[in-house]
Amino acid sequence: MFDQFALHERLLKAVAELKFVEPTPVQVAAIPPALDGRDLRVTAQTGSGKTAAFVLPMLDRLIGDAQPRVDVRALILLPTRELAQQTLKEVERFSQFTFIKSGLITGGEDFKVQAAMLRKVPDVLIGTPGRLIEHLNAGNLVLKDVEVVVLDEADRMLDMGFAEDVQRLVGECAKRQQTLLFSATSGGAGLREMVGKVLRDPLHLQLNRVSELNEGTRQQIITADHPAHKEQLVQWLLANETYQKAVIFTNTRAQADRLYGHLVASDMKVFVLHGEKDQKERKLAIDRLKQGGVKVLVATDVAARGLDIEGMDLVINFDMPRSGDEYVHRVGRTGRAGAEGLAISLICHTDWNLMSSIERYLKQRFERRVVKGLKGSYQGPKNLKASGKAAGTKKKKVEKKKGVEKKAKPAAKRPKNARREPSPVVSQDGMAPLKRRKPAAD
Ligand code: AMP
Repeated sequence: MFDQFALHERLLKAVAELKFVEPTPVQVAAIPPALDGRDLRVTAQTGSGKTAAFVLPMLDRLIGDAQPRVDVRALILLPTRELAQQTLKEVERFSQFTFIKSGLITGGEDFKVQAAMLRKVPDVLIGTPGRLIEHLNAGNLVLKDVEVVVLDEADRMLDMGFAEDVQRLVGECAKRQQTLLFSATSGGAGLREMVGKVLRDPLHLQLNRVSELNEGTRQQIITADHPAHKEQLVQWLLANETYQKAVIFTNTRAQADRLYGHLVASDMKVFVLHGEKDQKERKLAIDRLKQGGVKVLVATDVAARGLDIEGMDLVINFDMPRSGDEYVHRVGRTGRAGAEGLAISLICHTDWNLMSSIERYLKQRFERRVVKGLKGSYQGPKNLKASGKAAGTKKKKVEKKKGVEKKAKPAAKRPKNARREPSPVVSQDGMAPLKRRKPAAD
């Protein structure tokens, strides 16, 4: 029950109005320390109820301390417009019985209209870093009185290249009393650096451990010969599987567009979302999916971030995601709240080793599946190493020249500005070294 939390009665009234009965695990873990004023670093996925976990304590602070309003008092930074819009809605719903006003600043909207909104000084400002920086540079934004800063999907903001902007914006909030950082994955060195720079003695709450990948979700792989073969498989799966809504992930925009074209040509109602789609197209896609007019979405990871659409029970990985965390994030959308879900990854020879690393990361073996009539010639590597990866794929060492002893090159010979290969990232359980997550191709 929400009344276990020491929240202001007007917030509890809003929670009741929204028919939230039981708090979710992230809310149980994060709300009490956030109400105590602690800085938090929370690892939790979209769909976990994380928004309420930071919005409720933030609003509680703003209600509790009824000072005359002169400047923005809370700042929420997010990576995408949709996520910012969804968060604004959530803030408005929770603050409906208070006098707290919120405002939204994202790219793709009229700059002057936004500047006028800022002149009215909302209590809570929600936005994406790029456009907020533009307003800061234009002198439209004063953040010196901000008391609470929230960085939501911080890992994704870093992936999208917002590290500097985020740090600058947080730096402007010099008098802040609390900073709450949420990320969907455990992130890499960039996230650790940001945590070190912006949080003070944070409490680390980890809610989406890999072992919590939904038990109601079956995970399968189907081997494929090439992208065109994968397209045929997708078409077959969409026509033959039972699902309410499906999302197909590709690693690149170009592939998302190709697959979309292919599906539309075969008369399917589909939407595609990637970084080049404008605000209108994204809104339309999300609305149609929510209303159920369209059942299938083709998306890249960045575009699908923050989407919370009920009934997504089929996930197809057209390309294998580049890290175990990203896999969990994609597949974690299915089978929520006890519902059944199905995740199918299409595996060409280029996907195999990644798939095998992810199996080791999850300590699971994906079910092997064959689609009758569409069985290709590639069935996985002929020889496997103990790790499950393809054997004999490494380049052979160059034969030593007769009589010449092979010497290791001294490191000092590296040209001064040569880039080092990044060292592989070791997964959370320290088992399988996984590829470092590249910035999203989107
Ligand atoms: P989020 O992870 O914050 O994007 O939330 C996912 C969805 O769950 C949103 O539609 C929330 O309104 C909803 N939600 C969050 N907390 C609860 C709760 N305790 N009970 C019911 N629904 C919730």
